[in-house]
Amino acid sequence: MSSNSGIQIPSRLPLLCTHDGVLLPGSTMRISVDTARNMQLVKSRLLKGTSLKSTIIGVIPNTRDPEHDSDELPSLHSIGTAGLAVQVVGSNWPKPHYTLLITGLCRFRVTQPLRERPFPVAEVEQLDKLEQYTEGDQADGELGELSKRFYQAAVQLVGMLDMSVPVVAKLRRLLDSLPRETLPDVLASMIRTSNKEKLQVLDAVDLEERFKKALPLLTRQIEGLKLLQKTRKLRPDDDKRVLAIRKGGVFPGRQFSLDEEAEDEDGDDTAMLEKKVKAAAMPDAALRVCLKELKRLKKMPQSMPEYALTRNYLEMMVELPWSKSTTDCLDIRAARVLLDNDHYAMEKLKRRVLEYLAVRQLKSTLKGPILCFVGPPGVGKTSVGRSIARTLGREFHRIALGGVCDQSDIRGHRRTYVGSMPGRIINGLKTVGVNNPVFLLDEVDKLGKSLQGDPAAALLEVLDPEQNHNFTDHYLNVPFDLSQVLFIATANSTATIPPALLDRMEVLQVPGYTQEEKVEIAHRHLIPHQLEQHGLTPQQLQIPQDTTKDIISKYTREAGVRSLERKIGAICRAVAVKVAEGHKVSRAESPTEQHAVSHERSLNLSDQNTENKEEDSGIASPPEMPIVIDHIALKDILGPPIFEMEVSERLTLPGVAIGLAWTPLGGEIMFVEASRMEGEGQLTLTGQLGDVMKESAHLAISWLRSNAKTYLLTNGSADPLEGTDIHLHFPAGAVTKDGPSAGVTIVTCLASLLSGRLVRSDVAMTGEITLRGLVLPVGGIKDKVLAAHRANLKRVIIPKRNEKDLEEIPAHVRADLDFVFASTLDEVLNAAFDGGFPTAVSHPQVVSKL
Ligand code: ADP
Repeated sequence: MSSNSGIQIPSRLPLLCTHDGVLLPGSTMRISVDTARNMQLVKSRLLKGTSLKSTIIGVIPNTRDPEHDSDELPSLHSIGTAGLAVQVVGSNWPKPHYTLLITGLCRFRVTQPLRERPFPVAEVEQLDKLEQYTEGDQADGELGELSKRFYQAAVQLVGMLDMSVPVVAKLRRLLDSLPRETLPDVLASMIRTSNKEKLQVLDAVDLEERFKKALPLLTRQIEGLKLLQKTRKLRPDDDKRVLAIRKGGVFPGRQFSLDEEAEDEDGDDTAMLEKKVKAAAMPDAALRVCLKELKRLKKMPQSMPEYALTRNYLEMMVELPWSKSTTDCLDIRAARVLLDNDHYAMEKLKRRVLEYLAVRQLKSTLKGPILCFVGPPGVGKTSVGRSIARTLGREFHRIALGGVCDQSDIRGHRRTYVGSMPGRIINGLKTVGVNNPVFLLDEVDKLGKSLQGDPAAALLEVLDPEQNHNFTDHYLNVPFDLSQVLFIATANSTATIPPALLDRMEVLQVPGYTQEEKVEIAHRHLIPHQLEQHGLTPQQLQIPQDTTKDIISKYTREAGVRSLERKIGAICRAVAVKVAEGHKVSRAESPTEQHAVSHERSLNLSDQNTENKEEDSGIASPPEMPIVIDHIALKDILGPPIFEMEVSERLTLPGVAIGLAWTPLGGEIMFVEASRMEGEGQLTLTGQLGDVMKESAHLAISWLRSNAKTYLLTNGSADPLEGTDIHLHFPAGAVTKDGPSAGVTIVTCLASLLSGRLVRSDVAMTGEITLRGLVLPVGGIKDKVLAAHRANLKRVIIPKRNEKDLEEIPAHVRADLDFVFASTLDEVLNAAFDGGFPTAVSHPQVVSKL
């Protein structure tokens, strides 16, 4: 402690009374502070003081337990150790307390207590003259002899420890550089000694006596170690556990003790972990890190927070499937059958998936593109992903990315954070337990961005086949090979997928279903699945095709089949109740009538029928089987229809036209309304329109004004807008709309308003317009056409240049619809009105009604 040689402790010291552990000069100790007086000392002295002097306090050992700490100060031990508070940590759990890290400087004797409150302060006398020590090296006589013996014993002890441990090596060097007089204190605090023995060393103010007291303790430790090593030799594999010395000095209580039992338990635990690490078959880099961490773990006291962190880390590492994989059992013919069995329709998607699988079969290294299924919700994207895993015989894991806005969700937190953990990719691998699962990255288009970094950027590395064999999670901090993982992504729209990410993926569009397809899907998959889920059998419940059509058109309006599945589920629940309480429901008709009825409407759930049944409810018999759901039962279970076909209704006024819009949820039909009133030629637009849509409206008005004469819209004067204000509204007013494709609809709607003629109520249209009256192509034709078909419209006007897009549309839908391919607005207007739209040139005989 030569560095302390100049320190003179203050003559007045605040006193910290401890009851567990004895601080000796030259050692460092953690003291937990929770009694009122000690807390006061910490608060008003240590936390407020700014000078070095204010961090020196007197530590008085062996006072009474704080439980019995009463108002009056107990009698104090007269000798204590002045210590330097190196660190103060406060916590509120389980009760408010501080933990002090104190380094002992020298002994002192309490000469005169000065005050007791709020914390004791006393006049003290410094006992160890620190300066003397440096000169005292050459002490001779009995003291010299004693110190020499003590030094030799200390060297022997250190020699018995594992020198490869850095602390031990450091101690060995310290033994030579430390003044010999300090050795009894330093070693007594390091070796296994009881508090009583330490107290004896503390009380030995005389140096000679101190050596005499400490020497037997040291010899005892040496003997103990010898014994331990002898037994360890019999078990050579864990001889490294003999570690009596810990960095930073001594910790009180059990933590320091070489208590055999506790050490053994600890040792067994780490030995087990070591075995697991070796068995985990991890790559060299990871193994090296694990062994290093394991070595650190062995040297750490269990109470250290880092112990748990390191342990968790190691456990994570051994649980990861570094080289565990399933064998692919790919048979393309079987895969085709399985995909067909699982999913109706979606031919294009299934074909592409099969191609992908076939390539995989021919070339087993998986450096192909990452598939991304894009389409409205409920069209089976996730379930195709699951089928792919099944055809390959691989594990399946879904990672929901919707709303993820922190890149550590993907890549994990660094281990320095409390509660840090690996990202979802590594966690997923741990869950499935093999390194070649199918990972479904759900909703990649809903990734967010925040201050915590961009998760999409983190995904880039995951999804890049060139990079992902070296994916480094921040928590693991060693690369993990992801190249065997088959990634499939799903999204509702490509618009919000970051371009760099989109570039890594092959986009496969999964469009919505037509009504016929939905009926098929319902009968092949959804109904059997729901029946099974509700514990029903087809003998108990039948849903005829007409009912399914009703559910689709009156109770759902969606591109996929998710709410259809929910509605079928609702029917199953209602029927399950009836079946479960079956004995109460009795036959309504006589046995002879029964047979015929059972095919049509054996159990009618309407009120009227239940009334009938009430009459003979005394007869305990099951409901008649099967229960067939007809439209009355449907209304009874699902309530009145949610969606009515409002098309014909809404087109009874001039100034309404039906447009087709594309949304991430599929196509939609959209009514555009216009009205006119007296004014000064103002145009009002409502319905949350974006800039492009507003421009379309202005374009439409300009075109109509410039062509008013041709179409006989002049209203007497040269300008149809003279003395007139026009209001255009796009319903679903709360939904933001934008895009140029409503152009033709606005023109038609305004032409109808200005001419006073009705637009055909079975026509829907889409197309961008120009000032010259040309119709330009737009996107999303397939979804839009399906929406028109769903709404039972008969004629669809689309831009001529979109004609090629019709190929994707199922033949029966095409057959149901009458397509008009327009390249000019003239063609649009002619197709939208019954009998065409009159122009001054072509139909001079028709006079404007205005
Ligand atoms: P998404 O992931 O596209 O939102 P899901 O894969 O979750 O949709 O599908 C919703 C439900 O619809 C699932 O129960 C699925 O089995 C069913 N489904 C969707 N499309 C089909 C189909 N073509 N054939 C059979 N079932 C389908």
